Amino acid sequence: MRIAIDGPAGAGKGTLAERLAAHYGLPYLDTGLLYRAIGRLMADAGADLDDPEAAGAVALALTAEDLARDDLRGREAGELASRVAVHPKVRAALVDFQRAFAARPEGAVLDGRDIGTVICPDADVKLFVTASAEVRARRRTDELAAKGRAPDFERILAEIRERDARDSNRAVAPLKPADDAVILDTSDLDRDAAFAAALAVIEARRTP
Ligand code: C5P
Repeated sequence: MRIAIDGPAGAGKGTLAERLAAHYGLPYLDTGLLYRAIGRLMADAGADLDDPEAAGAVALALTAEDLARDDLRGREAGELASRVAVHPKVRAALVDFQRAFAARPEGAVLDGRDIGTVICPDADVKLFVTASAEVRARRRTDELAAKGRAPDFERILAEIRERDARDSNRAVAPLKPADDAVILDTSDLDRDAAFAAALAVIEARRTP
C-alpha cells in the first residue's frame, strides 16, 4: 500500500504520516527533509538561495549524511527549504529518489507538498491534511511556549501565511490537493482524532 500525504506547514501531516507508517508497518519518507537539507547546505556555504543553478547542483550532490543532520527541524530550516523548493532543477534532482522510495515492494508512506500530484500520482490513498492558518500558528505558538520559549503569535502567523503563499504559488509542483485526494481538515481535531479520521479513509479505500 502506498499512502501519499500532502498539506501546508504545521497541519500535522508529519505526525500523522509517522503514526500511519507505524500502524501499517510501512517505511516512511518525510520529503521535506530533502529540501530542508538543501537549504541548510546552501546557507552554510553562504550561497544565494535564489540561484537556481547553485541550488540544483547542491540537490544533485545530496547524501544520506546530509539528511541525518540534527538541524533540519524547526522554522528556520523550513524557510530555507521553501526558498530552494521553488527551483525546478532542485525538484527534478529529487524525483528519482522519492519515486524509488515510493515503489518499494512493501509499500510506503510519503509526506510533502507534491506527493499525490507529482511524485506518486498512482498512490493507493491520498490525503491532503490541512488546518486554518490561525490554528496552525496557535499550535506552533503553544509548542514553543511548552519548550519554555516566548513565541510571538502574530509573527508566526505571518510566517505561516508567507510560506503557504510561496509553496502554493510557485510554478512547479505547487502545494495543492490532487484531484483524487481526500481533504482532512484538522482545525477542530486533536492528534488522536486526526489519526482516527485518516484510518477511516484508508480502511474505506482498502475494503472495496
Ligand atoms: O514539510 P516541511 O515543512 O518539512 O517542508 C519544508 C518546505 O519544503 C516546504 O515549505 C516546501 O517549500 C518544501 N517541500 C516541497 N515539496 C515537498 C516537501 C517539502 O516543496 N514534497
